[in-house]
Amino acid sequence: MLTQNDLVKFKKLLEEEKVLLETELSELGSRNPSNASDWVPVKPAGDEFGADRNDNADIIEDMQDNNAALNELEGRLNQVMNALLKITEGTYGTCEISGEAIEMDRLEANPAAPTCKKHMRA
Ligand SMILES: [Zn+2]
Repeated sequence: MLTQNDLVKFKKLLEEEKVLLETELSELGSRNPSNASDWVPVKPAGDEFGADRNDNADIIEDMQDNNAALNELEGRLNQVMNALLKITEGTYGTCEISGEAIEMDRLEANPAAPTCKKHMRA
């Protein structure tokens, strides 16, 4: 069972990670104006599409790499936000699949872990 001290500690870790992720996200993309939790990639400044096909292909490739990184960060941020919500709701630290307590060492390794070790996605 998590103590109040544990909750305070994990909340702090999660909030720090949230700030970090939002900083990284804001470097790669911008918030979707109609959905603040969605991030969309931005075309790198100075990279304009032109007459050169190869240049255009490079820009598109950069944007695709950018988008993959953005999706990964966004997925992680959603997990962190979800964990913070669970702290507020008083359900933090329980497995989303079985409802069992999540192992302490798993939470130490990943404070945003949504499941216990048994139900970890491979
Ligand atoms: Zn479980």
